[in-house]
Amino acid sequence: MIIAIDGPAASGKGTLAKRLAAHYGYRHLDTGVIYRAVAHALLTTGIDLNDEARAVQAALKLDPESFDNPALKSQAVGSAASVVSALPKVREALVTFQRQFAAGPPGAVLDGRDIGTVICPTADVKIYVVADPKIRARRRTLEARARGEEADEAVVLADILARDERDQNRAVAPLKQAPDAYLLDNSQLDIESGVRAAIDIVEAVRAGRQRV
Ligand code: C5P
Repeated sequence: MIIAIDGPAASGKGTLAKRLAAHYGYRHLDTGVIYRAVAHALLTTGIDLNDEARAVQAALKLDPESFDNPALKSQAVGSAASVVSALPKVREALVTFQRQFAAGPPGAVLDGRDIGTVICPTADVKIYVVADPKIRARRRTLEARARGEEADEAVVLADILARDERDQNRAVAPLKQAPDAYLLDNSQLDIESGVRAAIDIVEAVRAGRQRV
């Protein structure tokens, strides 16, 4: 089974996807990390984030072992990832890796922006996670501070809104809810309730299938 989790930055979908994968014993891929790794490679070598050819080279050279690098989590790398991820050839270069990951047994949960619309349009279950931007900014600020980074909530909110705008309006694979995705509003849910709601969606889809 393939489960696609999409939604805007800091909606809580990351934790939810990880927990869902653990619940079902599936493999989990945070696809944002891939774009972050490409952006990080460019930032550390001083290459322009809009240099598509060099960005594609970086994408093709990615080492999944580097996905755990804590430097990838910063707000700055997240914003840079949103610039790099708008480059069509960069997205194209990363499609096969993501689809192969999704196809492997026993099942997979992929978390991103275009999983249900582009990467795995036939995913068994699609969940589109949203949350109020102010609540997302609050959560991101607390997470950043917990990592020891300085964070100003107003700046984080502005970054989130700019990122949403860029992700939703890019020409290729824009962030949007797939027509067959379930909407999960995470604004008022704590982690446990969000995970519970996602499991309920997966179980409802499975039960619906069994009846057919
Ligand atoms: O989810 P995360 O904040 O790690 O993603 C960083 C950026 O990578 C996003 O703002 C988005 O621009 C890009 N991204 C994407 N497609 C994905 C995952 C992330 O374009 N599947």
